[in-house]
Amino acid sequence: SRRYPERNEIPRTPDLRSHYDVVIIGGGGHGASLAYHLAKHHGITNVAILEKGYLGGGNTARNTTVIRSNYTDQRSIRFYAKALRLYESLANELDYNMMYSRRGQLTLSHSDGVSRSLRLRADAGDFCGEANEIVDRQQIRSLVPSLNLDIKGMPVLCGLWHPSAAIARHDAVVWGYAIRACERGVELHQRTEVLGMEVSGDRVTRLRTNRGDVSAGTVVQCVAGYSSVVAKMVGLKLPIRSYPLQAMVTHPVKPFLNPMVSSTALHCYVSQSARGELVIGGGSDPYELYNTRSTLELKEGLAASALEMFPFIGELKILRQWAGITDMTPDYSPIMGQGPLSNYWLDAGWGTWGFKATPASGFFLAKAISENRIADEIRPFQLSRFHSFDLVNEMGATAASH
Ligand code: FAD
Repeated sequence: SRRYPERNEIPRTPDLRSHYDVVIIGGGGHGASLAYHLAKHHGITNVAILEKGYLGGGNTARNTTVIRSNYTDQRSIRFYAKALRLYESLANELDYNMMYSRRGQLTLSHSDGVSRSLRLRADAGDFCGEANEIVDRQQIRSLVPSLNLDIKGMPVLCGLWHPSAAIARHDAVVWGYAIRACERGVELHQRTEVLGMEVSGDRVTRLRTNRGDVSAGTVVQCVAGYSSVVAKMVGLKLPIRSYPLQAMVTHPVKPFLNPMVSSTALHCYVSQSARGELVIGGGSDPYELYNTRSTLELKEGLAASALEMFPFIGELKILRQWAGITDMTPDYSPIMGQGPLSNYWLDAGWGTWGFKATPASGFFLAKAISENRIADEIRPFQLSRFHSFDLVNEMGATAASH
């Protein structure tokens, strides 16, 4: 008999049973969101989440929580807009405090070329009904009075203002989804690592874990930076390369920065958390690596860039620094849907931009798995696009925006 958790407590890991209807590899936000949507909306509750470490200890715990929909391609804009709408009501849906905070995001341009690309993003957003506008220096000054617009050699020319962008507490997102999924019968198995998988014909027949073997009707991998490693267990080579991505926070100060601000030229973005810490991030490390160490070099670069934007923060101390492993696709878009095996599904390629997608990836994948049919919203993101060369080239996904 299963033990149900007290409200808002993560249940203890139960014994591993020999078979589940659905096994989800990876207990991050995406795995938990998928389990919740399977159980809540499709009545599929014989589900196990297998997590090699602890719930949400991967990139979900390491990201800088930027939630936005100001992408370039209409297919991405529509997908991320759905995610944003789901986020807006998530605390109510899960009856769990997400600390969701609508801040707006300001992306700065320091050159004519970037101004043109920001204009393109503003127009693409408008076309899809997502609010975006180009703001001039005077408007930027009133949005962020503390920002230095006259950066030496690269003055701010204009910005892309995205008023519905938000932040949320990343841990709460995965905790909320997992707790509500487990209340409906989903089993969360922490410290349970998938070590290998057996394939027979076009099906995965068995998963080997450090706690015993298990079989499943359907298997889904939601393992972020380990996508290539896990896909290889079923003989699949994904078009993914994995790079470390670092970030850091300062000690807390009184609120002075409401919007998130990112600079394309400085490769740096800054926001202020609800606790008052400045959250500072930038681009990925320039080389592939499976390691979550931080480097002093990158921290010095980020600090120098943040100081250009906010010269008065020089006395702040760096409180924490960390890194995650991000799996990057050639077109900066995710991979969702079935792979070549009939019962093996992929939720991968979330690179530096997957936190904001968490509610929508679970929503659409659960629907696809239960109906065995891919919804139009995620059809463009299937693995097969790399064979048909129908890429979703998404230059609004990363750089300094996340
Ligand atoms: P994870 O949370 O990493 O979960 C995957 C889980 O799979 C892990 O817990 C791991 O332990 C487990 N796992 C791996 N292999 C196995 C195995 N063999 N067996 C069992 N379990 C396994 N995105 C945004 O949208 N906005 C941002 O501002 C943003 N900033 C970022 C900043 C940084 C520094 C980093 C690193 C990432 C950032 N991202 C951002 C990206 C975002 O964090 C990820 O895309 C997202 O969290 C992926 O969620 P996930 O649930 O797929 O992965």
